[in-house]
Amino acid sequence: MKELICIVCPQGCHLKVDEENGCAVTGNSCPRGAEYGKMELTHPTRVVTSTVRCDGGLYPRCPVKTDRPIPKGQMLEVMAALEGVALSAPVAVGQVLVENVCGTGANIVATRNMLPR
Ligand code: SF4
Repeated sequence: MKELICIVCPQGCHLKVDEENGCAVTGNSCPRGAEYGKMELTHPTRVVTSTVRCDGGLYPRCPVKTDRPIPKGQMLEVMAALEGVALSAPVAVGQVLVENVCGTGANIVATRNMLPR
């Protein structure tokens, strides 16, 4: 039996996932918790948030994120790939900056507008 805290919403339900019983989940207050508990044990994923270099803008770095969750095991690979990204202002919120980052199927998108200096 694995114990987890559900991170899908702020309520933070304490989940128990029975690995020997098809990853049956208890302690969840809604179906999303059951789905999260099962996924966390079988195929954990995360949305990656970070910043990348932005030249010519009001700020030196632009906040970014993946537009969908990626496999947890590829997070460091994606972070390393972002080190080589350099943008030029202007950048629009929601703009796709890197397509299919590291073959995950997720895009890296800007999470704020970056106006030129
Ligand atoms: S189980 Fe449902 S209510 Fe509980 S933290 Fe997860 S999403 Fe929120």
